[in-house]
Amino acid sequence: MDNFIFQNPTKIIFGKNTESSVGKEVSSYSKKILLHYGGGSIKKSGLYDKVVASLKEANIEFIELPGVKPNPRLSLVREGIQICRDNGIDFVLAVGGGSVIDSAKAIAIGVPYNGDVWDFYTDKADATEALPVGTILTIPAAGSESSTGSVITNEDGWYKKPYNSALIYPKFSILNPELAYTLPRYQISCGAADILAHLMERYFTNSKNVEFTDRLIESTMKTIINNVPKVLKNQEDYDAWAEVMWAGAIAHNNLLNTGRVGDWGSHNIEHELSGIYDVAHGAGLAVVFPAWMKYLYKHDMNRFVQFAVRVWNVEQEFFSPEETALQGIKKLEEFFVSIDMPITLKGLGIEDDRYEEMANKATDNDASPLGNFVKLNSKDIVNILKLAQ
Ligand code: NAP
Ligand code: FE
Repeated sequence: MDNFIFQNPTKIIFGKNTESSVGKEVSSYSKKILLHYGGGSIKKSGLYDKVVASLKEANIEFIELPGVKPNPRLSLVREGIQICRDNGIDFVLAVGGGSVIDSAKAIAIGVPYNGDVWDFYTDKADATEALPVGTILTIPAAGSESSTGSVITNEDGWYKKPYNSALIYPKFSILNPELAYTLPRYQISCGAADILAHLMERYFTNSKNVEFTDRLIESTMKTIINNVPKVLKNQEDYDAWAEVMWAGAIAHNNLLNTGRVGDWGSHNIEHELSGIYDVAHGAGLAVVFPAWMKYLYKHDMNRFVQFAVRVWNVEQEFFSPEETALQGIKKLEEFFVSIDMPITLKGLGIEDDRYEEMANKATDNDASPLGNFVKLNSKDIVNILKLAQ
């Protein structure tokens, strides 16, 4: 096990009706906030009215910035920064999914910074200050509700880039599984694929003697595999949603990478797909991850055998180690298909061949290879995208 420091400071407020405590939670930090949300799902579901009532009851003044798109845009982040500066706002409340939360985090680091917020996403600067952020989560998926991450798309060139900092752990996140009842089926499945991807990015590691976190990751994967079909069958199954929502947060709150180094190659390849083609992040991952696995499973066959046996119940005695490893990858693909996720670029609606362009963008023309389990240069990425065709 590698050395590590683990400190996740996000306060999780979990369960039915918890959104009504938002005014009280915010009042520990601020009296004047930015209320940030997406394209309107929170108005349709009635959540917006509940949030406004709770903020008013706590005498919190708010200015609204709606309109966050999936794959959140830099232009709206810049608008949010300006609104906060012009109005003396010192807290950002995100109500929505990963896109809204990531946009809120970007605004939070942008407000106190003298330069352009995009500097953080291009390794030109590191944040030293941030406004506090709070969230009400409406979709289990990105894990941004208790992560250090924010992923933003710059429309000028369609670059989608992540930034990580402990400064942007939300101060609190409200997780009410009932808020997921109104999700479109496609978004439920995209969320499941993203959660599984966060677990697999951590699982495929070269770190040794990591049995405890291996087993935590495996059981978190199994929880998703068991419960996502239940919520797809009955979208108001509270107990199954509660499992998915909590597993989704734990999948990405850094507990599961304690003592080990994760990979993140597939996420970075996917960012090229959602950056250029504006596809849903989870659907992109369902396409990239199996291809990534097929390309490099021989790097550590034992780990792929363990994945097949422990996560997918492949019966090892019937197969050679290589066949067992490949069975595990096949089971993953079958799961994605069973929840209506695409597993090919064609299925994702991508028919043209911009593989080299994406590979060069992702690796900065081979200056920064992707991944840790296996380092990938632009040629490897082109090969993986070809396997995903
Ligand atoms: P999302 O992009 O925030 O939302 C997807 C769609 O679902 C939106 O159209 C949204 O509509 C709708 N929606 C959300 N909740 C709903 C509900 N309860 N009922 C009905 N519709 C609802 O989805 P996401 O998967 O959470 O976030 C994806 C983004 O997160 C990507 O950009 C990805 O790269 C990023 N990400 C971040 C991290 C991190 O650690 N920061 C990790 C992985 C991925 P409205 O807009 O109308 O609300
Ligand atoms: Fe993700």
